Amino acid sequence: MTPAPRACWACGDAGAGLALCAACGAVQPPGGAGCHFARLGLARRFGHTVEAIEAAHAARMAEVHPDRFARASAVERRFAAEHAAGLNDALRTLAMPHSRLTYLLSVRGLDVGEAPLLRLRPSDADHMELIELRAALGELRGRDAAVERARLARAVQERFEHLLFELGAVVDATPEDAPLPFAAGRVGHLHALRRLIDEVAG
Ligand SMILES: [Zn+2]
Repeated sequence: MTPAPRACWACGDAGAGLALCAACGAVQPPGGAGCHFARLGLARRFGHTVEAIEAAHAARMAEVHPDRFARASAVERRFAAEHAAGLNDALRTLAMPHSRLTYLLSVRGLDVGEAPLLRLRPSDADHMELIELRAALGELRGRDAAVERARLARAVQERFEHLLFELGAVVDATPEDAPLPFAAGRVGHLHALRRLIDEVAG
């Protein structure tokens, strides 16, 4: 979502850009930047590569770098610093796929937060998968446990990434104004797999 253009506070030009006014170059107040995707000038979707996100961040950072405003007013220097902080926040949130999907889901109205998985009513298949993985984790002992643990860690990681990219693809294929065609329980299951990865890693 691109925020509506605002008038520049310095010259009044209506087409003031996101961070800098296109007409006079003055740094704009950062409040109207919108979501993290808009902040980086990226479409609100999951399927961005990390390289594209980092490149967008670097390009926007170059615009508001403090060196460019060393002689500017205190107000503009503060605006520039706030833009930079917002850009770093956006990069932190969007660079990792799990964090990017979680944020995108919250923007799209599906924020499961820290809700207990059972309250999100996982599907029977997801529920069984978690029970089986937990049972496998519980059986890890003895001489070969380290080998088995590494094997289980890989298996959980694969299930997690598979579901992560599956849900991301569904979100990207669903129009912005349409409800997402999967239940909150699927997102809860994704987070549960993520927690299990940490448990297996011990
Ligand atoms: Zn201007």
